Parts: sequence; C-alpha cells; structure tokens
Amino acid sequence: MLTYNELIELRDKLANGEISLELAKAEFWNDFKEGQRSWHTKDWKERRSKFIKDKCQICSSKEILTIQHLSHPRKHTEYIREITRGYAKEYMNSNPEIDKSEFSNYVLKNYDYVPVPLCPNCKGKNPSERVRKTPKYRCADCKHEFDEAVYKSVNELISIFYENEEAYEVRDKCFVSKDKWRNKNNLSNVRYWLQRDSAKNKDAETIEKEAFLQYLNDNIKYLSFEDTITACRKCASSYDLHKMELCPKCNTHYKGIQYPTCIECLPEDKRKAALEIIEFGKEWREMHKKLGID
Ligand SMILES: [Zn+2]
Ligand SMILES: [Zn+2]
Ligand SMILES: [Zn+2]
Ligand SMILES: [Zn+2]
Repeated sequence: MLTYNELIELRDKLANGEISLELAKAEFWNDFKEGQRSWHTKDWKERRSKFIKDKCQICSSKEILTIQHLSHPRKHTEYIREITRGYAKEYMNSNPEIDKSEFSNYVLKNYDYVPVPLCPNCKGKNPSERVRKTPKYRCADCKHEFDEAVYKSVNELISIFYENEEAYEVRDKCFVSKDKWRNKNNLSNVRYWLQRDSAKNKDAETIEKEAFLQYLNDNIKYLSFEDTITACRKCASSYDLHKMELCPKCNTHYKGIQYPTCIECLPEDKRKAALEIIEFGKEWREMHKKLGID
C-alpha cells in the first residue's frame, strides 16, 4: 500500500505523462486490495495522530476519541462508468447519424432477436396464443384466427426505425443482449449502446486515465484527513456521520445537516436535552444489541 506522499507523487507523474497509465496502475494495485483498511499502515497511524483533535467536535467530550471520514472513495469501476457516460453523451451530440449497415451489423452481432408475433390480417401485436384450441392464434384486435403469425425481420424493423424512431412497430424491447445480463432492448436502446461503445473505443485511453486520476484524487483526499471529524465513540455511534457538517455559527463543531447549529451553540436548556438524547440513543442501541434485535 502506497503512503500518502507516494500516492501524490504517483498522481502527479501520471497527470504530467511522466509514467504510463499501465505502470501507474501496476504501482497502485500492487499489494492493494480495494476496500482494504488503510489504517493498518504505519503511515496512516502517524498521520492520524497529527490530525485527531483533543476533543469531540460534536459534543466536546474527551472520552475515547475516534477519527471519522465524512466521505469515502468509490470503487474504481464507478469512476469509469461515470466518465464513459459523459464521453458517450458528447459522442452522441457530435455523431447523431449512424450508418444503417453499421447499425444492423451491431444489432445482429450483439443481440438475439425475439420477434413479436403479428396478426397476418391487421398486423396488430395482440394475437393471443391458445394452448388447447386450434388454430393456435386469435387476434385480440380483429378477432382473426390463424395458425401462423407473421414476423418482421430485423432489417425491416431497422428500416422502419430509420424512417420514424417512434413508430409503433419499433417500440418493443425484442432485442436481448447476448451477454450474461440478457437485457431486453428496443432499437433506440440498442443505438444508445452502440454509440456508447463507439465513444468508449474511440476514447478508451483518455477515459481510463481520467477515471484513474479521479480515483487517485479521492484516495488522496481520503488519506489527507481533510474530510474527517474527531468524534467521541458515543457521538460516532449516535450519529450518521456522513450526514454531518460544520456548524455555521461557531465553525468549530459539527452538526447534523438537518439542524441549524451544533449542540454547543444551542441555548443551555436545549443543549442538555440534546446531550441526553445522545446518551439515550447509545443505551437504546446497546439494549437492542443485548436482546439480539440489531
Ligand atoms: Zn461526542
Ligand atoms: Zn465513514
Ligand atoms: Zn388482427
Ligand atoms: Zn456551533
């Protein structure tokens, strides 16, 4: 696991193009497991002792202080997904037209077509299949009875789609992705994935690099203790610390985002009540634990 300073150095070298993305990743992932607790390292412990305050930033207690992060880096894949989405959007705006044969090749390569049975008489989509009776189908729209439904070919559907994207015939999600997800799509969905893939292929390097840089930045921010508060164990267990912010009145203590000020800035009587609630919350949780409700 890289130390805080090593991480900054790695980020800068990558940003300046002094090392390749591949090398940067290798250096970072080497002996690093995502979600691994960074606070086992010596570097982390030393830095923590510098940042921890001498009293709880919520209630001012000095008992059993802990340092709590208000934000955490997300998973690396989430950065990639988010940045790809942005590039896809840009790509779509600058390449709104797709060649028809390219589209049709993409559809056939990546999707199984599960055609919608149509009534041969009225071309409606509502023939109901009958288990016992013959003929097999009966159209709910025109009441026509028949043995064989008709189907539109993929190319017919694509031609209709190119004429009118909103046409009745092309709204069905009859294209099932060939990957493990087996997602159902209509042609307009498929077009989105084609454009997204194109953007991804075109800017693969840039996307990967941007995502990794953001990921590094968030890891650096996490290790910087910039976004942390010192809380006593009681407060740490009584509050959802991810929903805390600095009190605007004193700029010293933290408060739940739903409250106007911190406990310290409340008038005496209200402050007492608030502290009692913390105490109560803690006892309540302990009781639940003892009873095995939690
Ligand atoms: Zn506290
Ligand atoms: Zn946390
Ligand atoms: Zn019909
Ligand atoms: Zn305050």
